[in-house]
Amino acid sequence: MPDKVRVRFAPSPTGPLHIGGVRTALYNYLFARKHQGSFVLRIEDTDQNRFVEGAEEYILEALQWCGIPFDEGPGKESGFGPYRQSERGHLYGKYAEILVESGKAYYAFDTAEQLQHYRGKMEAQGHTFIYNWQNREQLKNSLSLPESEVSDLINSGTPYVIRYKMPEDQKMELSDLIRGQIEIDTKILDDKVLFKSDGMPTYHLANIVDDHLMEITHVIRGEEWLPSLALHYQLYDAFGWEKPAFAHLPLILKPVGKGKLSKRDGEKLGFPVFPLSWEQSIGYREAGYYPEAVVNFLAMLGWNPGDDREILSLDELVELFSLERVHKAGARFDPDKTKWYNHHYLQQRTDIKLVNDLKKYSEPELSSFSDSYLEKVVGLLKERADFALDIWTQGRYFFSPPENYNEKAAKKHWKNDTADLMMELVGLLQKLDSFSASELESHLKSWIGQKEIGFGKIMAPLRLTLVGDLKGPGVFDIMELLGKQESIARINNAVERL
Ligand code: GLU
Repeated sequence: MPDKVRVRFAPSPTGPLHIGGVRTALYNYLFARKHQGSFVLRIEDTDQNRFVEGAEEYILEALQWCGIPFDEGPGKESGFGPYRQSERGHLYGKYAEILVESGKAYYAFDTAEQLQHYRGKMEAQGHTFIYNWQNREQLKNSLSLPESEVSDLINSGTPYVIRYKMPEDQKMELSDLIRGQIEIDTKILDDKVLFKSDGMPTYHLANIVDDHLMEITHVIRGEEWLPSLALHYQLYDAFGWEKPAFAHLPLILKPVGKGKLSKRDGEKLGFPVFPLSWEQSIGYREAGYYPEAVVNFLAMLGWNPGDDREILSLDELVELFSLERVHKAGARFDPDKTKWYNHHYLQQRTDIKLVNDLKKYSEPELSSFSDSYLEKVVGLLKERADFALDIWTQGRYFFSPPENYNEKAAKKHWKNDTADLMMELVGLLQKLDSFSASELESHLKSWIGQKEIGFGKIMAPLRLTLVGDLKGPGVFDIMELLGKQESIARINNAVERL
């Protein structure tokens, strides 16, 4: 391990961060913390065509919400900035020129139409077109044209790009901390554009130059970048720079079927794929997930702690994390498991915190209830809740009397003699001084015992009068919370209506 571990998360602000991106950030964060290193955030915004307004702010907010802050990045200068590539634009041209001078790269003047034309011609002859050793001599570049013509073109302002001159036949050995050794022959690789005609670098050049200048020691990124690794190796060698270690994280796969998790899967199956809402897509935050749950399930998507523990706090994750235990195979996304995690973290919350969560959904309806009442409601319902919103939707009867009664249940449990029994019960309840669940239980049980009727003959219809349905926590708990007056009013009301 180098003296000081420095890792970076380098998103392009082309839209909202996908949760796969959040996982990449998280693994970088965990690795940095584990090795007392620095976690750098670099915004890779050199492609102006793909720039999306608000995307950078979104990324910052998402990391903050997840509780995985960066040590260096936009607004957190630490001697390696600026951290937005658009603000580093002046840096890259020099490096592209260095490669041209050393013969590792060249100017190319082909227009898009010319390339299109050439490609068409090749394909008509049954060949695929790759801009590399096979074709570069036939194309319009500083390798095929005489030097004087090249200078004329440049001097007259002809647009050009700078391409990397990929060696014709070099067997490369790449190494990846997760995947091990990878062999590749440069024969099949193309001469990638490093510098564009608009004066901006492409991803490849800017990324390598910045990783070098920012002294990045470990590049931890998604598997989709693995095909670029050979070129990146080439560039490091061409500059004579020491390479960082590389680790390519496995894909996050669709819940069912083949391929990687997409926004469409989320829409189809009804789960978020973004940490925060973006346009029409709901985010984990807005769907009522806790950041601890999101961090925990993301950590487990493609990594394990070496035993069967599944619940791990951020601190525990830092302690346990290692790249060696990141899986090679893709990680299947399981929406039910994300709920399971949220359920767990919801149970960990104090009741008063849950009350505040609940208020986010239904502040006006709840404003007439005291916090201590709401805390008790939450205490009764949370065990069955995955989200704070569940407490609200499943516990409406704690806030207003049932508007109607479950028909099927009423048919089954509201018999000819039920109204009389309920009225008798009201008489009994009216006489009670204490309305605690335990008092209620003992009084009702002895009354039912005396009457020699089945317990269900009272309890089911009683629940129906209070809740409107047969669901919910214990009837006596519900009555205690509703209180004497409200409980009796609800029974009377049901007797009238059923
Ligand atoms: N800007 C690239 C992205 O959007 C960074 C890839 C890398 O980490 O090298 O993912």
